[in-house]
Amino acid sequence: MTEKQRVLLCGDVEGRFKLLFNKVDAINKKSGPFDFLFCVGNFFGKNNADLEPFKAGTKTISVPTYIMGPNDDEGLVHYTDPTGGEICTNLTYLGKHGLYTASSGLKIAYLSGVEKGKDVAKECSFDHKDVTALRNSCLKGCPSFRGVDVLLTSQWPEGISNLDEQKPDFEYQGSRLISWLATHIKPRYHVSGLENVHYERSPYRNQHESQDGINIATRFIALAKVANPEKKKWLYALNLTPLDKTKITELMMKTTDETPSPYPQSMLQNNPNKKTEEQNQYFYDMESKNDKKKIKRAKMEFDQSKCWFCLSSQDCAKHLVISAGKDIYLALAKGGIVDDHFLILPVTHYQSISILPDNVKEELRLYKEAIKLYCALNDRVPVFFERNFKTSHCQLQAVPIHKNQAPALKETFQEIAGVYHITMKELNEDLKEVAPPGAPYFLVEFPNGEQLFYKIKKDFPLQFGREVLCSDRILDVPDRFDWKDCQLSREKEYMLAENIKAKFRPFDVKL
Ligand SMILES: [Zn+2]
Repeated sequence: MTEKQRVLLCGDVEGRFKLLFNKVDAINKKSGPFDFLFCVGNFFGKNNADLEPFKAGTKTISVPTYIMGPNDDEGLVHYTDPTGGEICTNLTYLGKHGLYTASSGLKIAYLSGVEKGKDVAKECSFDHKDVTALRNSCLKGCPSFRGVDVLLTSQWPEGISNLDEQKPDFEYQGSRLISWLATHIKPRYHVSGLENVHYERSPYRNQHESQDGINIATRFIALAKVANPEKKKWLYALNLTPLDKTKITELMMKTTDETPSPYPQSMLQNNPNKKTEEQNQYFYDMESKNDKKKIKRAKMEFDQSKCWFCLSSQDCAKHLVISAGKDIYLALAKGGIVDDHFLILPVTHYQSISILPDNVKEELRLYKEAIKLYCALNDRVPVFFERNFKTSHCQLQAVPIHKNQAPALKETFQEIAGVYHITMKELNEDLKEVAPPGAPYFLVEFPNGEQLFYKIKKDFPLQFGREVLCSDRILDVPDRFDWKDCQLSREKEYMLAENIKAKFRPFDVKL
């Protein structure tokens, strides 16, 4: 699975289009193909005649090129559509701000212009509303948000050279709102221009509200103007695997020159306008009877190091682990219905299958296939079910039953659901479409691939899946209904896991 994306980054072009596109063309032929060219800073200059042959179609741009908006009145006149759009083939203005997700999954956040000030036109600047909107669109629908791949801002963030031993010796016009934005959306690469300086900061580790251990590092890269006489670097090539498809261990890896975040901790606050009054207000609210806010806060501070199912946690029952992949691991259920009652779980903390990134979902599918093969060895088939309700870490249960018991499954599930006045519906669409992030649900998948789904409204019988499988129509083991009645001593658990591990080994997922 090669997911690598090849990206070119470029500083202020200022009208030197011929130079830029010739150089890009040469690099593309030599070490391409590249997927993208992103230009920060001023793209247009005093003389823009070089662009005409590209607009007329007599010359072509070989790498899809994306540019940022104007930074001053001079630049403004070159943008006909302020909302963004194509300028000519393979040349696109991204727009004021937004998140661009490539088909590979690569996420590029961009913020055009400079921070609002008295001398800057509205069309060339951004304010706290813009950075908040951009932050929100990056975080939307991502409960386990880790970061974005690239953040493009023409202006530098304020304070970026703090804590860096190799910091450039000059004064730059940094934006505090950009520092705030970068703190929140955690880019792997943050690229800026405008200062005609080439500066690559030592990577810094991002800060986070909670200590869940998956804060990625950011590399800040500032690029100089295209073809500057001092020959400072203005073009930069990146080889990048989208964040969502990168191993956690890789993201956690530290370089020797890594520093803590150069931004103050106050940047973590929700409001980009630093106002201590508002901060006080926030804490006041928390202590008042505003329980809703309190609960939300408590949830955010969930301690992953104490999660039973996070593989890195000290409380995880590692002796029950049967196989560990890249993002998924397989374990025995504590007090399983049968000896080889499995749990398929993500290695790090996700709430439910409905929000798993595609690569994790794909690995989960491989584990399901492996279990099917394992079961087939003695004429059995697995039933998979997930209860995303009153659980915190995503777990897909896999219970092997004899293949002759399979035809009764669907009816039995529906019948027992009926006892609880629950109607389960057949699921033919993607889970994501019926279960928005955070929505509780119960899902069962039968050996023939059919699925039944129930969106939990208020309450749900916690042992429902077990109850159906233990019933006389299926496994007929009523005494194994409650897992607590089936618990083994730690020693016996260990022996059982060793035994199943050996049996499972021939079918284990090879990544
Ligand atoms: Zn967890």
